[in-house]
Amino acid sequence: MIIDCHAHFDPRLLPAERLVAKLDAAGVDRVALIPAMNDPLPATPERLLAVMRRLSGHAAGRVIVEAVHRALLTPEGELKLSGQVIPIYARPDNEGVARLCAAYPSRFSGWIFLNPRNHPTVLDELERWRAAPGMIGLKLHPHWHDYRTEILGPVLRRAEELGLPVLIHLGFRKRGDFRAICAAYPRLKVICAHAGFPFYRDLWAYRGSCPNLYVDLSSPYIDERLARAAVAAMGPERCLYGTDAPYGFHEADESYDYGAIRGWVERMPVRAAQRDAMLGGTFRELARL
Ligand SMILES: [Zn+2]
Repeated sequence: MIIDCHAHFDPRLLPAERLVAKLDAAGVDRVALIPAMNDPLPATPERLLAVMRRLSGHAAGRVIVEAVHRALLTPEGELKLSGQVIPIYARPDNEGVARLCAAYPSRFSGWIFLNPRNHPTVLDELERWRAAPGMIGLKLHPHWHDYRTEILGPVLRRAEELGLPVLIHLGFRKRGDFRAICAAYPRLKVICAHAGFPFYRDLWAYRGSCPNLYVDLSSPYIDERLARAAVAAMGPERCLYGTDAPYGFHEADESYDYGAIRGWVERMPVRAAQRDAMLGGTFRELARL
């Protein structure tokens, strides 16, 4: 069973019927969808992404990438890109994803997108959406929602209690303190998006001290070389196939290319059973599907 553990639902870019047709054509059985958190973005130039990937590989380079990131955020928490201001949603719409999961229960699962910043009733929101059929875990984005991960305490404690996995896009320094998260919530299943961006190797090195730490292999935040390095360091059993669709990797017709990251996983020098686990088996267990 092929499961994409990290994709976004943005009907402005890819409406539900077209998404299902694309999954059929690509042989992807199930997708765990995240509500969109921003207005559609102009494509990030591949050259810029390549520089970011290289710089993020070590602490000194990360300082530069962080400075660039901070320069792109407005004081209101929106994004300034190519002269445009792109709204980031403080409260992504969980309802649209829940509706889609109810309409296509065999195809879609949903991540509940929570933002604890300025949100005193965030736990109520957690309880509300976890009761909706098909919602399998929590998505957190301290990088763009711009908060220190220490304010996630009550949310992570509850996720650990409930056995809900957490998919987190880590930010820099205190906005991505994965060590503190793993130490405080040892039973919490933590999936770090984009091979552990922005820490990569420094996060993979922590594998031994945190048995419930995983990474997904999604998005142009990484490339095939980094995906392979992640699998070599973390082991295939800690790496999950994900795409970040419909962002990045466009086909000639501008729609999402489901073959790109799948190709990385299929070309990995691992045993067939390990590849199957990366493509869906491990995530199926984590999300109790
Ligand atoms: Zn994403």
